[in-house]
Amino acid sequence: MDTDSARASLLKEQARLEGLLIAAARLHAGAQEAQERELSSSDQHPAELATETIERELDQSVVLHVQMELTEVEAAVAKVEAGTYGLCEACAKPISDARLEAMPAARYCIEDQAKLARNGRRNGSR
Ligand SMILES: [Zn+2]
Repeated sequence: MDTDSARASLLKEQARLEGLLIAAARLHAGAQEAQERELSSSDQHPAELATETIERELDQSVVLHVQMELTEVEAAVAKVEAGTYGLCEACAKPISDARLEAMPAARYCIEDQAKLARNGRRNGSR
């Protein structure tokens, strides 16, 4: 994969993830307002409040996941600039184009990714 198309697909992915974070932040602000309205009214529904709490926590884990992905994409963009993009971080061999197209921010080749998974480590964890 050449540098220009790698950079283009990473920047597209970065924009998508940033859009998700902005949408989540808006959703969050809206949910908070709704809850404040609910708390200020005399008639409260504990069951509904519990459901909202669960939804907010789900929201948070999605946001954390997106932030993690965004960090990966930013690291990959830095590698494009450094000229090391597309090389496995474990064995330094080129990662296949098909894998990079599916996962532009991949750090490892399929073999090393599988090894890391067997060792109980996730992609990107230290
Ligand atoms: Zn490798």
